[in-house]
Amino acid sequence: MSVNSYGEGYWRRSHQLPGVLVCPEHGAALADSAVSQGDGNQHEFIAADQKNCSPVAALPSWASSPRQVTLLQEIAKRSAALLDHPPVRFRDWGAYYRGAVIDRGFDKGKENVAQNLLREAILSLFEPVIDLIPGGLGGDWPTAMVRKHRKAFHPLRHVLFPIFLDKRSSQRRTAPPFGKGPWPCFNRLADHYGQNVIHEIAVRHDQDRVIGRFSCACGFVYSREVGSRSSPRILDFGPLLDDQIRQKVAEGLGLRAVAGYLAIDPGTVRLHASRLGLNVPWKPLAARHSRTLVPDCDAIRTRWLDMQQNYADLSRRQLALLLPKEHSWLYRHDREWLEQHSPTALHKKWSDQRVDWETLDRSMAIQLRKVAREITREVPPQRVTQAALERKLGRPRRMSERQVKLPKSIGVLGEVMETTDAFRLRRIVWATAELHRQALPVRSWRVRR
Ligand SMILES: [Zn+2]
Repeated sequence: MSVNSYGEGYWRRSHQLPGVLVCPEHGAALADSAVSQGDGNQHEFIAADQKNCSPVAALPSWASSPRQVTLLQEIAKRSAALLDHPPVRFRDWGAYYRGAVIDRGFDKGKENVAQNLLREAILSLFEPVIDLIPGGLGGDWPTAMVRKHRKAFHPLRHVLFPIFLDKRSSQRRTAPPFGKGPWPCFNRLADHYGQNVIHEIAVRHDQDRVIGRFSCACGFVYSREVGSRSSPRILDFGPLLDDQIRQKVAEGLGLRAVAGYLAIDPGTVRLHASRLGLNVPWKPLAARHSRTLVPDCDAIRTRWLDMQQNYADLSRRQLALLLPKEHSWLYRHDREWLEQHSPTALHKKWSDQRVDWETLDRSMAIQLRKVAREITREVPPQRVTQAALERKLGRPRRMSERQVKLPKSIGVLGEVMETTDAFRLRRIVWATAELHRQALPVRSWRVRR
């Protein structure tokens, strides 16, 4: 209500809408009136007065967060606009939204929507206000919005969705992430080394990273991350390497000489020669290893490289924790390659600068809540601990080391973690329900078990 300008209080329609927590014009936090919608006769008119509209007693904590306020004001503005200019024309909203998100890069195949990416992106945009708008953001509504609308959606959804669309159109995706191509091949053994001859690219979105996998017709495959300055990761040398190794071994060259000629490390030469079953002048890999393990070498290397691409800020030690088998195999049989293809101190410094902590923090906070919910659904009940959460996220000890950079995640962590007592209580409730389900009499000794 506004006493100052008119001398009399009144209700503003635009302040009464669901999801509207701030004034659309000023962004100031709105105070709750003492009038509840559920009270008495719904047709009764209650005038706004000093008694039922006390001034804001204490500002909510989000009022000092520009990000939350900006988002809330955007929601308020759009809601008010919807009141002033309700859409007059019928629109096939499902088709309209579907086309809009596909235009913004959420396409999968020709006409489908990448639903998981879309949901994550919407959640991540509204994450700062998720808890402030009860019922506004939960559920799977983004998925339903881009399908045929079989029922009307709450107007708030038609407020939120266009906000998301506007934010997206101003972002990237106007250009393909790696440009138009063709892209260079880095196969030193090919005549076209360094030339733009690659036409085949597969782009993968991993959280906020965009990774391209480039496959040349010569069989050489490498991957690269958008915005990364480090050299591309070689995933496959292709058949040219085999031919050359065969040829050089036949010429009688030694291990170092072959490696030097091919400009690759001796470990790689040794492995591929062994895989090809060549009769080499150097000490071959132990037979028991070569038979069972060498065929897997490429797969092991690929997993090691992939993990680095996905988690560019992990140290070698952390990678080893995530891929213990791969690491110990590489350490024993492929050490030189491992040294060359692991994060070094220098590499790590670079990567740290590239990490967009804010985005990472936001998406990790969302993941944490999700994973915590998953843990509480496990049977028999598992306690929600930091270790359990991090294990599920596949990022051991990552959070504690980065506390300062992940304020949101640490906050969520504090919220979702269970004390021993809370967990005991939940277990008892579960056990009791379980006994009921099995129709066993609830005796205290059964619960305790
Ligand atoms: Zn090539």
